[in-house]
Amino acid sequence: MKTTSKVIRYRGTELNTKGWQQEAALRMLMNNLDTEVAECPEDLVVYGGIGKAARNWEAFDTIVESLKKLEADETLMIQSGKPVAIFKTHTDAPRVLIANSNLVPAYANWDTFHELDKKGLMMYGQMTAGSWIYIGSQGIVQGTYETFAELAKQHFNGSLQHTVTVTAGLGGMGGAQPLAVTMNGGVCIAVEVDETRIARRLETKYTDIKTNSLEEALQLAAAAKKEGKALSIGLLGNAADVLPEMLSRGFIPDILTDQTSAHDPLNGYIPSQMTLEEAARLRVESPERYVKAAKSSMAKHVKAMLKMMNKGAITFDYGNNIRQVAKDEGVENAFDFPGFVPAYIRPQFCVGKGPFRWAALSGDPEDIYKTDAAILREFADNEHLCNWIRMAQDKIQFQGLPSRICWLGYGERAHFGKIINDMVASGEISAPIVIGRDHLDSGSVASPNRETEAMLDGSDAVSDWPILNALINAVGGATWVSVHHGGGVGMGYSQHAGVVIVADGTKEAEERIKRVLTTDPGMGVVRHADAGYELAKKTAREKGIRMPMLEK
Ligand code: NAD
Repeated sequence: MKTTSKVIRYRGTELNTKGWQQEAALRMLMNNLDTEVAECPEDLVVYGGIGKAARNWEAFDTIVESLKKLEADETLMIQSGKPVAIFKTHTDAPRVLIANSNLVPAYANWDTFHELDKKGLMMYGQMTAGSWIYIGSQGIVQGTYETFAELAKQHFNGSLQHTVTVTAGLGGMGGAQPLAVTMNGGVCIAVEVDETRIARRLETKYTDIKTNSLEEALQLAAAAKKEGKALSIGLLGNAADVLPEMLSRGFIPDILTDQTSAHDPLNGYIPSQMTLEEAARLRVESPERYVKAAKSSMAKHVKAMLKMMNKGAITFDYGNNIRQVAKDEGVENAFDFPGFVPAYIRPQFCVGKGPFRWAALSGDPEDIYKTDAAILREFADNEHLCNWIRMAQDKIQFQGLPSRICWLGYGERAHFGKIINDMVASGEISAPIVIGRDHLDSGSVASPNRETEAMLDGSDAVSDWPILNALINAVGGATWVSVHHGGGVGMGYSQHAGVVIVADGTKEAEERIKRVLTTDPGMGVVRHADAGYELAKKTAREKGIRMPMLEK
């Protein structure tokens, strides 16, 4: 049955279940499929291609029914979006355990997955879709903001003021780039081939202005750069054509990247010199010719990026696999520019930082504003973090349950988790808060083409780490824990774990929060210290994280 009428916006303090832990799972499942949050709720699709919250509507109904009946000492087991068992456990154990899209390694490919999916035996969980902690586009904006902030720190004294960034792709995730650049004080020219995508970013204020003329874009960018004004420009054009044209005019940006959907040559990348209509026609008439044209355009695109890099542009890959395609097309030095994780994010992972988030189960935005105030008070000396919170309050609209994301590290998460729990206990916050994170975090993902690209000790493909992460978080008393395969980069390329914990104001929750919000980022520090990162080793020593092999 295709319907969203089953997705109910539970709000306020009245319980529909036998306790706040079960209630949190119920409300977050509903929230993932809220029309304000999900891309295609009628198909149970939350985001990221076919990332789903439940396998089918029958499974969804049974999960809801099970959560409503679930006792405080029982655990519901979910296998690829289907509820398969309820066991008696204990009150400190997770209320839900989830495994999504996992395949035995030799079978871990899209063909096998699609076959099983068609038979109704599996579901693609993406990252936060199948683990019920997706909060809409806020998560993407902040990750992108963090990437550009770290780049600014490394190359431009902490601000992108007086710099021009060139990128391409204003889609679901790429659309966050112009806002993230302007939040860091810079100028952004984002090349996008589809006019409707630029229009959407203008509507939601992610992009400031639009132009069809390269000449005008360059003039506006130069003026804003000179004045030190933050400005984002959506430029209609094909990146494979625009970048070589920029080069021939002698224009070299300060920063260069790309978020076209290069990971999918058939549906994601528009070949050079082709209108959208021509591309749509060729895609149907001759998929082979389309893929060939897209791949050779990507090679042209990457060659232009390499030339700009050699002339001084700080250049990085933004996780779309464009380097691999160019290399396969004969651009031998395509990997001369780094991926964004080794270049900008890894130092954060070394101190256990990553996309930490929380949502107000009451549905009342005031509850989130109170937590914002607590962040500004408790972390007042962290200017970068405080800036983010103020900008997020100003620029980010809530989708579904009010929520907040901010990158906190080891020690900070446990500290802040206790503060939230205290605020719930005292009644300052009107109902419990659910605390979680993306799977793209410090110690919870193995993904050799992205999050674990170029690890210092070569351990990129070792996926013991996300499994250990999930196990220790479950033991510590997380409210729900998930282990997934294939999120972000597709089948065969990643394994990752999710965690969510409820702050309901009780003493028991305080203890669980202390444990889980220590072990979870702790595994991130440990994973990176074990790989030999000095910053992670220093963090482990300073924070007293016990690593027997380091203690010798
Ligand atoms: P999307 O499909 O929604 O958007 C892609 C956009 O690129 C579209 O608007 C399309 O019109 C445009 N485009 C395609 N070919 C073009 C060309 N030749 N020139 C100019 N524009 C072109 O995808 P999305 O969700 O925005 O993600 C984009 C890519 O970035 C994906 O490959 C994704 O995997 C990657 N990504 C990675 C991370 C990460 O954390 N590593 C984060 C975000 C996105």
